[in-house]
Amino acid sequence: MTRAKKAAILLIYTGGTIGMKHDFGARALKPFDFGQILDEVPELGKFAFKIDSLSFDPLIDSSDVDPSVWVKIAGTIKERYDGYDGFVILHGTDTMAYSASALSFMLDGLTKPVVFTGSQLPIGVPRTDGKENLISSVEIASAKDESGHALVPEVSIYFGSLLLRGNRATKIDSENFSAFCSPNFPALAEAGINIKYNREYIRRPLDWYQSLSVHARLDTRVSILKIHPGITPQIVRGILCSPDTRSVIMETYGSGNAPSADWFVGAVREAVEAGKIIVNVSQCTAGAVDMELYATGRSLLEAGAVSGHDCTTESALAKLFFLQGESGDNEWVKAMMDENLKGEIKIKY
Ligand code: ASP
Repeated sequence: MTRAKKAAILLIYTGGTIGMKHDFGARALKPFDFGQILDEVPELGKFAFKIDSLSFDPLIDSSDVDPSVWVKIAGTIKERYDGYDGFVILHGTDTMAYSASALSFMLDGLTKPVVFTGSQLPIGVPRTDGKENLISSVEIASAKDESGHALVPEVSIYFGSLLLRGNRATKIDSENFSAFCSPNFPALAEAGINIKYNREYIRRPLDWYQSLSVHARLDTRVSILKIHPGITPQIVRGILCSPDTRSVIMETYGSGNAPSADWFVGAVREAVEAGKIIVNVSQCTAGAVDMELYATGRSLLEAGAVSGHDCTTESALAKLFFLQGESGDNEWVKAMMDENLKGEIKIKY
């Protein structure tokens, strides 16, 4: 008789509120040792599988996350990939949506869950949300379907009882326990008495036996320009035409509209003619860019801006870092912005 292999989960602690405690001297929250976090959650010992953990050194508040941290997380997963059924990344909430988006593009051939989680209150305080977030994330990372494959083999964020696709999620609340939402894509699972998986929305690999590869080359020459009434030609041109940017994410109004003034459209055209990639992403939390709808959107299209469709700004940024790292050809990058690579956009025709 063959016995099923016991599942194994790796917890990777990068920092964030979940593992912080009050430093009364500094009157601020500071990270504490990971062993102490696990002591706070004896419930993890009740799972019938192995849970290993490792901790980044130094631990960081996620406001200090940069692409080198993503490369380190991806490298850690790659190194330990064969030994584990799933990975739970403990991460600060502030930039969690950026990190989850980035990892979704950097990890290619993923067949196992990578679940980001954290908390609004440190795990050591009585009303913490960290315990439930951590315990449910571990359960999700270990969940299997009838054939023994991972139920959620993609990069996700579990927070406040919702499992969201990582590159669709955004932080919307700095106080409430329901801190994340995924405005343009349904939750992958919801945790109540049971964890209900919305299987039709979960991405599954074509080949369960493919190997994982990491795309660690990221080109960060991307700026974000948020349009607002009263924005000046100097500011718009300064950002769009800066020699230090290869692409600009333009956060526009509504369905992708921006000022129709000649100086504005002219600056976009000038940047495009100089070879830059201008990606139009809506300032609205929900809904998609449709540059054909209004004259103010159409002039951006005619000037050469490309649509960000219904993606989040976090995911557009991570996708551009990834694509620019893959190729020096801006026309290829633009074409790929129109492709749904990891479930980050829905393209309407
Ligand atoms: N500043 C913290 C961080 O992002 C906030 C949190 O974890 O919620 O690391």
